[in-house]
Amino acid sequence: MDRMKEKLFELAKIGQDSEGGISRVFGSEAMKEGQQAVEKYFCECGLKTWTDSAGNVHGVLSSGRENAKEIFIGSHIDTVRQGGIFDGLLGVVAGAETAARLLREKVTLTKDVHIIATNGEEGNELGGTFGSRAMMGLLPVDSKEYLEKAASFGFSKEDLLKASLNTDRAACYLELHIEQGPTLYKHKEQIGIVTGIVGLRRYQVTVYGISNHAGTTMMEDREDALVAASRIILMGDELARKAGHHLVETVGVMKVYPCSAPVIPNRVEMILEIRNEEETLMDDFMAEFTQQAESMARVKIEPIVAKAPVKCREELVNFIEKACKEEAVRYRRMPSGATHDGNAMAVKMPVGMIFVPSKDGISHSKDEWTEWKDIECGMEVLWKVLLLLEKEE
Ligand SMILES: [Zn+2]
Repeated sequence: MDRMKEKLFELAKIGQDSEGGISRVFGSEAMKEGQQAVEKYFCECGLKTWTDSAGNVHGVLSSGRENAKEIFIGSHIDTVRQGGIFDGLLGVVAGAETAARLLREKVTLTKDVHIIATNGEEGNELGGTFGSRAMMGLLPVDSKEYLEKAASFGFSKEDLLKASLNTDRAACYLELHIEQGPTLYKHKEQIGIVTGIVGLRRYQVTVYGISNHAGTTMMEDREDALVAASRIILMGDELARKAGHHLVETVGVMKVYPCSAPVIPNRVEMILEIRNEEETLMDDFMAEFTQQAESMARVKIEPIVAKAPVKCREELVNFIEKACKEEAVRYRRMPSGATHDGNAMAVKMPVGMIFVPSKDGISHSKDEWTEWKDIECGMEVLWKVLLLLEKEE
């Protein structure tokens, strides 16, 4: 554990400013430095190491068996601007230290263990989960516009294609990550077993009214688009609270027209976002929302983004639960409200994710913190899951 702590702090220094914030942003010099340091670190752990053409760093501990199945363990090493120590880096170091432990304790698995430190998981110009999407062959390589943008980061079309990973022998993808929310911390639980990564939908909601003089138009004679939009926002908030099952709803964007103090607004454009693990729950929410909104004002509701939810493999969820029970830790099954590399990896293999608590639920901040005893617990659970996967053969 001391070695892990040391490594985490050492790698966290790359891109760290004097206030403690870490900016290992996609495409930055600090990120390049991080990739090189992680490649060196993987090598020191005794892994066969390389960096692929999309900037993902790989380290493989071979079982020595021909056609052995492959267990992937990974996370990302890029951060948001002024992010924290653990988001991403924890899962990378956890994977490498687990492989090093296999070697140290002379535990031979029948499967290869393949550690991945991905590039560009956080939102960036080439889209979040860039590295894992490159490995899974999910990048829009036929878009001229996308290729132009990629070129500005030094990636050719060939680079993007070459990064595609052979998954013929893939057994699963495992990731240890901080929760990035308050649930575990609030309930004093050490492990979150991720059941799935929520899907996300965004809608453009336009509310119409009639513009008129703000002084001469009496209240009963108005059709005020902003007042109607406000009522619709409150209705949506209430509806989401009633829906339960971790459904969340947010209006984060609002534009008012003509946006002039003495004029009654005639149009409001909003972006409504909902997230949930179940498509049907999102369908039900939107049906009810649309019906109520239409009864309140003249509205137009158009879908603009739809990302499907990802289910973690039940088998892996059960293994993680078994490991938690063996370790006698307090845990809960929970969805992930944030996107992870697992979203992309799930396209070609079963995915399992282990969460550890974030102090006060804070992440994407220099104040991000996870207690060492919780990290240790997460490491033990990951270790146990590897052994359980082995037994299953
Ligand atoms: Zn992350």
